[in-house]
Amino acid sequence: MQYDAWFAAQDDPNERYPLTEVVYYSKSGGLLDVIHNMDALRQHSAEEWKQLFEYRWMRTSWPYGSGVWGKKEWVCPIVSNDNVISMFEGGSNLFWAERLGQELGIRDLWIKLCGNSHTGSFKDLGMTVLVSVVRQMIADGKPIRAVACASTGDTSAALAAYGAAAGIPTIVFLPKGKVSTAQLVQPIAHGALVLALDTDFDGCMRIVRDITADQSIYLANSLNSLRIEGQKTVAIEIVQQFDWQVPDWIVIPGGNLGNTAALGKGLLMMHELGLIDRLPRIVCAQAENANPLYRAYQTGFERYEPITAKPTAASAIQIGAPVSINRAIRMLQRFDGVVEQASEQELADAAAHADRTGLYSCPHTGVALAATIKLIKQGVIQNTDRVVVISTAHGLKFSGFKVNYHENSLRDVVSQHANPPIELPADLDAVRRVLDERMEDFARRGQNAR
Ligand SMILES: *Cc1c(COP(=O)(O)O)cnc(C)c1O
Repeated sequence: MQYDAWFAAQDDPNERYPLTEVVYYSKSGGLLDVIHNMDALRQHSAEEWKQLFEYRWMRTSWPYGSGVWGKKEWVCPIVSNDNVISMFEGGSNLFWAERLGQELGIRDLWIKLCGNSHTGSFKDLGMTVLVSVVRQMIADGKPIRAVACASTGDTSAALAAYGAAAGIPTIVFLPKGKVSTAQLVQPIAHGALVLALDTDFDGCMRIVRDITADQSIYLANSLNSLRIEGQKTVAIEIVQQFDWQVPDWIVIPGGNLGNTAALGKGLLMMHELGLIDRLPRIVCAQAENANPLYRAYQTGFERYEPITAKPTAASAIQIGAPVSINRAIRMLQRFDGVVEQASEQELADAAAHADRTGLYSCPHTGVALAATIKLIKQGVIQNTDRVVVISTAHGLKFSGFKVNYHENSLRDVVSQHANPPIELPADLDAVRRVLDERMEDFARRGQNAR
């Protein structure tokens, strides 16, 4: 029996399409999910899969040294290895945040640093799969001229990098005047065609949908479920890194909610194939300024309404009408999930607090950390629980947020942990005075941490 995977309509699993067909919606206009031939995967025992994944982990044999392609049979078996576009994404570090955990009152706090990846965010995990499938389509003779997305941040960086590695032109649509140079510089550097439109993000999304309707420009936004297949490997990696033990909680920030759905999908697949025998609980953390899922959770998921998201420092999750809302709700119900939210103040302070213990947190990770702190205080997360916080991007991609925090100029935030430099004359006594003062502070803080 062959490993195989295909698109299926969410509302009718018999409506199927090959993964190499240019199709984004079902006949009824719903989303498509990727379905695997599970019987073919069941030909191997759980033990055999674990051994295979261990054997390939972080080696150089093409393309299996990639955290994503090391699980190729589970992710995207239909791409030939020649057409894989990989920069050995995944395999990111999962580490014990001992000191931060101590300060928050839990022993077993872990951070999965997905930002330690090629373009600095977890978006690489999904984009390697999408761009590889596009290269397979081109090799099969499909007339695809380019891949496009509407995005201001991490998606466009990943698309531009993987497109450049594949030699496939990429087009990035973004709202003019609303994007900083720092957010733009990755696609610019990778040679993407960057089009700044006189509209907002939703306006860009409408244009990119119209442009990609003609089939020769492939749509890379997250309604394309190929990306979820790559992103689900984060769940498998976490469990593998714990020697196949399941943590009690996994906390993840959510905007469009594809990543929340992907996390659940990876866990369910391991469960179905017998690699794990229990499931963790999932926490989806939202910014209070962009919290449609949190609001739905408050009604026990009885009611959901899209909202207009307000600006948040966690710009990648400033989304009011998440594409993967139904997928995410289904997963949260399956995993006895919790949705928590964080204000601008809470997310900024949580990120800064974590930085004081050696992390370097992006604002989205700040949202996840703030949610974790609240759930510990509420007693929902117990102090003996093993908790993994998924850090979605590298802090270095969000220098503006860090600088503004320490200059106390973030919107709606009074920076509790601001640590601005002290300007002094080049005078020994003046320097000694400040050192004496500050070293006492340091000593006190060190003791508190013990
Ligand atoms: C895209 C992104 C998210 C949100 O992921 P969704 O799948 O849209 O929920 C969170 N953090 C960062 C850094 C991102 O780039």
